[in-house]
Amino acid sequence: MTRRETYLDWNATAPLRPEAQAAMVAALARCGNASSVHDWGRAARHCVERARETVAGLVGAAPEGVVFVSGGTEANHLALLGSGRERILVSAIEHGSVLQAAPGAERIAVDRDGIVDLARLEAQLAADPRSALVSVMLANNETGIVQPVADIARLAHARGALFHCDAVQAAGKVPFTDDEIGADLISLSAHKLGGPPGIGALVVTGNAEVSAMIRGGGQERGRRAGSENLPGIAGFAAAAEAALAGIAEYARIGRLRDALEAAALGAAPRAVVIGAGMRRLPNTSALALPGAPAETQIIALDLDGVMVSAGAACSSGKVGPSHVLEAMEVPPDIAAGTIRISLGWTTDAADIAHFLDAWTALARRLAQPRPARAA
Ligand code: PLP
Repeated sequence: MTRRETYLDWNATAPLRPEAQAAMVAALARCGNASSVHDWGRAARHCVERARETVAGLVGAAPEGVVFVSGGTEANHLALLGSGRERILVSAIEHGSVLQAAPGAERIAVDRDGIVDLARLEAQLAADPRSALVSVMLANNETGIVQPVADIARLAHARGALFHCDAVQAAGKVPFTDDEIGADLISLSAHKLGGPPGIGALVVTGNAEVSAMIRGGGQERGRRAGSENLPGIAGFAAAAEAALAGIAEYARIGRLRDALEAAALGAAPRAVVIGAGMRRLPNTSALALPGAPAETQIIALDLDGVMVSAGAACSSGKVGPSHVLEAMEVPPDIAAGTIRISLGWTTDAADIAHFLDAWTALARRLAQPRPARAA
């Protein structure tokens, strides 16, 4: 009998959508640099510009604002380092690619629900008149908690600051437009929504401008040099189109996630759902089993064919204390026992049952008192 495998780590990366694969194979089969003026070059250019329109459509933006980059990490770097602002303020729960792009940035605190403290942000902005950029993610990769980004944008704009929003996890899972979230700069990544890894975009709206970090060619309207990654861009656009068309599927995914959490809490009453009751991405669950280290849970689940993560495992593959849970002041035993379960469009009830079988058996095993060691 083949071993059942259940993938519940979609926030780390999602499987390539067949539409994206087909678009990439077609793009790989053609030759032509989008900067060349001849026929093949123009065909490549046409492909890039069509993709730009599609990706812009994902967030309701103008195509001219889309800068294709190598992924969410680069998009975040370009936003923070290319904005030319004197002050950078980032929330304490941002992805490492924001926190480490500007290590000297001022931190914006979050409350115990994981929500940015708006009053503190307003005071921070008022305390220093220098030009600023505020960076707050739309939804957190570890907990799925959604930030009040429109309010944050209003506060930032009232003080003349730019607002950058890392929408890498939210894009394709919850509908939004650049107008609704009020962001001047938006980071996107293809592999979180069914495109290939290694391609993403920074969307620059009409209010902002960025100067290139990578120079040496005039590509991407001078904002990012280097021959365009045509297969990646084509795959990104096809995935974005499919994600947008399938976004209603997240209602079903949300019901599966809720059923998983209810069953887990029923089976192990000491378990905790981080951010329960908050507005969250419908596919994400941060589930804690206090006293059971996340690494132990992940390894045990993996042995049973269930793949999940702890915290931001996509960054290092290592399990360490989560800065997100620390910023939310989650007690250390709960934080250390938190795993991230993230669902996607192929997840079904059988996957949830597989997870629950493996996880509840583990919870029961870990709850049993250890036999005393022989003297
Ligand atoms: N921002 C968030 C919120 C993420 O979750 C990730 C990846 O996990 C990134 C940025 C980085 O994206 P990429 O892997 O495309 O560099």
